[in-house]
Order: sequence, then C-alpha cells, then structure tokens
Amino acid sequence: MRVFKFGGASVKDAAGIKNVYDVLQQVGYEDVLVIVSAMGKTTNALEEVIKNYFDKSPELNSSVQEVKKYHNQILLDLFENDKNEVFAAVNAQFADLEYFLAHNKSPNYNFVYDQIVSYGELISTTILSHFMSFKGIQTQWLDVRNFVKTDSTYRDAEVDWDLTQKNIANNIKRKILNITQGFLGSDENNFTTTLGREGSDYSAAIFAYCLNAESVTIWKDVPGVMNADPRYFENASLLNQISYREAIELAFYGASVIHPKTLQPLQKKEIPLYVKSFINPLLPGTRVAKGADLEPYLPCFIVKRNQLLISLSSIDFSFIMEENISEIFGLFHQFKLKVNLIQNSAISFSVCVEDKFGNFNELNAILSKKFKVDFTENVTLYTIRHFNENAAQTVEENKTVLLKQVSRETMQIVTKEN
Ligand code: ADP
Ligand code: ASP
Ligand code: MG
Repeated sequence: MRVFKFGGASVKDAAGIKNVYDVLQQVGYEDVLVIVSAMGKTTNALEEVIKNYFDKSPELNSSVQEVKKYHNQILLDLFENDKNEVFAAVNAQFADLEYFLAHNKSPNYNFVYDQIVSYGELISTTILSHFMSFKGIQTQWLDVRNFVKTDSTYRDAEVDWDLTQKNIANNIKRKILNITQGFLGSDENNFTTTLGREGSDYSAAIFAYCLNAESVTIWKDVPGVMNADPRYFENASLLNQISYREAIELAFYGASVIHPKTLQPLQKKEIPLYVKSFINPLLPGTRVAKGADLEPYLPCFIVKRNQLLISLSSIDFSFIMEENISEIFGLFHQFKLKVNLIQNSAISFSVCVEDKFGNFNELNAILSKKFKVDFTENVTLYTIRHFNENAAQTVEENKTVLLKQVSRETMQIVTKEN
C-alpha cells in the first residue's frame, strides 16, 4: 500500500481539489491511503473562532460564517448543483460545530481547541471524497479517530501505538482508495485530540508504519526538499535524495517542509518517504531513505525568525552549573519555551528560544530573582548544515551577529537585522 499526504496548500480551493484528482489519475490510486489536511488556512481561521469563543466576542458568529462561506464557495465551484449530497454532509458538520459552540461546558482551552479545530480536516476529507465519487472513483472515507488513538494531551497528543496498530491493521480495506484526516486522533473517551500544528505529515507516517506501507509521498507546492526554503532563498536547489538522518536533522532545525515527528516511524521500518510537487507529480522529487545521502553535501540553510535570545548570568559571579541549568531547563519546559540553541560559559548561559505561547514575561519574573537576565527580542536563528565559508558569509551579510556556534556539520548563527 502507498500512503499519500496532501497538505493545506494542495487543497486550498476547487482547483486544488481537482488537481488532487489529476495527481491520482497520473500516479495511480489503487491500494492507496490518502491523508488530507484542512483546506488552505482553515486551521488558522478555526483558531480565530476558538479565540472569539473564549473571549465571548461578538465576532464569534461571523468568524464561523467565514469558514462556512469559504467551504461553500469551493463546493459551488466543484459540483454542478447543490443537489449533490456533499452539501448536506458539509452542512451537517457545520451544524455539529455550532452545536458544540452553543452547548460546550468545558472550560479547558486545549480540549475545546481540539474539538473545534478538527472540523477543518473532517470537512476537507468529506469534500475530497465526494468529489472523487462524483468523478467516478470509488472511495472509502474513514474517520481517523477510529484508528489513531492517543492520550488526552489535547493539542499535542501522544500516540498509543499498540491500540493504533490494532485498529489500523484490522480495519483498513486494501485495493481501494481510502481517504482520511491528518492531524487528528482520539483519546480513550473518544474525544478528539490533535497531534500538534502541521501534524498531518506525522499522521501519514503513523499509517505507513502500521500498514507496513511500501512508501509515503507528501505532496507539496515545492519540487521536493531543497537546500533552503525557496520563499527566502532565490537560488535554492532540489536535494534528489537524503538519508533519514539528514532529513531528521533538517526538520529538527526547522526546515518546515517535513514535520520533524514524521521520520522516526518511517526510519524504523525503512519505509521510503518521497517529497514531491503536486504541480508536477511525475517528477522524481526528493527520496528520503536509508543511507541515501548524495555527497558532496550542499550547504543547507534553515531560518527561524522571531526568536528570543536570552543570556543568564549569575548575580554573584558563581558558576552556572548543572543544578542551575537543570532548574532553568525545568522552567523553560514549564513555560513551554522551545530551546533552539544553547551556549554555556563560566558565568553565563545563553539560549535562543521560541516563545510560541507568549510566556516569557512571566518566566522572566521568576528567573530575575536568581539571575541577571539580558534578552534581545526578534532575532533570527540561521542553521547551516554542511556549512562552508561562503555559506556563512551569505548569512552574515548586512546583519549583526549576536552569537555563533560551530559543530562538525552544523553552524548556527543568531542575528539581528540591521
Ligand atoms: P503543507 O501544504 O503540506 O502543509 P507546508 O506549507 O507545510 O506544506 O510545506 C511546504 C513549504 O515548506 C514550502 O512552500 C516551502 O516554503 C517550505 N520549506 C521550508 N523549508 C524548505 C526546504 N528546505 N525545502 C522545500 N521547502 C521548504
Ligand atoms: N491543519 C493542521 C495545521 O494547519 C495540520 C496540518 O496541516 O498538517 O496545523
Ligand atoms: Mg502544513
């Protein structure tokens, strides 16, 4: 079986859905499982709904209507008339969402988030699977929550591999086009959970692992994995093949083309991952497999913007030692700051972190009681894998370098734009 994943960008409008059909026509859809994300920026739009819900904002209704309107327009563009049963099916999902908003009693933000945000994927898969039927392809729509079981860590759920494996092994029909949702799972009480933003790549890997799939293909708006994000680097070039290890490194440092959790399950079973263009599906793209690196290596650039550089030094010139460091890390964990770079010296300790949840001020108040805290906001972290002098120069040009760290294969540079 082959597992395909189509992300938000590939299904952002009616033309995108039609293109998925074309891709499947070209590469074949027998014995295929398709994992689909929410359409375009729907997850962000639903996050707005969640915000309005908790703020008790008068905008709540209009934010829901906006999501409805967007999907309705896609339906009108795809289907000849609104007699097609897909209209009723999508309406029913929006009715469920509105019922939840009207009747929910839980004050748990993360729980509510997952119950609401999941409609993005439930609706996108409903639309895709009806469109395939409309075009004469027999499909099986699966509710992923009957397959991927997780713990109850809403918004960042941990997969229960044993249960998931059993569900998937016993209940997926082969020889047919199966369509299901990325990003979602369910906990032991069957409440919806999610695997973390951008988690649909990971969903594809979970299914591939449990099905012993022949391969996974993630279809993207780029030709494959490139040596830099082509949005920011004009001369980015395609990497034809890379090893799991290289892919894990790139994803770990923030190459957003592959979700970092995707590689491990695939690597365990040596299932190859293809990253291909949904615009040119017959081009080879990038193959990620065991030992597949091409040498010599090209320098690979990864950019993380909007980082925070924090330096802690001891107030009394005592050393920052193991005990302090473990306490500091405990706090970073507690306040959900993601540490992307660490540098330690005798009496000071610097970290480049991402404050996704806006918790730094609160943390700073605690740290300042024990340490002298200096910080610079809005810095950029560049990571160069397989760096050379030229590559480093390109990054440093016209910028102030605040910190630099070099290891055998990787150079990291924290800069502030001039
Ligand atoms: P999806 O639609 O599956 O969610 P994403 O938008 O998450 O797709 O991923 C594709 C995007 O990843 C590309 O548009 C590109 O801008 C970005 N990207 C970041 N780093 C790389 C890289 N090294 N190679 C290719 N694309 C990259
Ligand atoms: N729709 C989810 C998100 O935007 C999951 C995904 O696209 O991978 O984060
Ligand atoms: Mg994405």
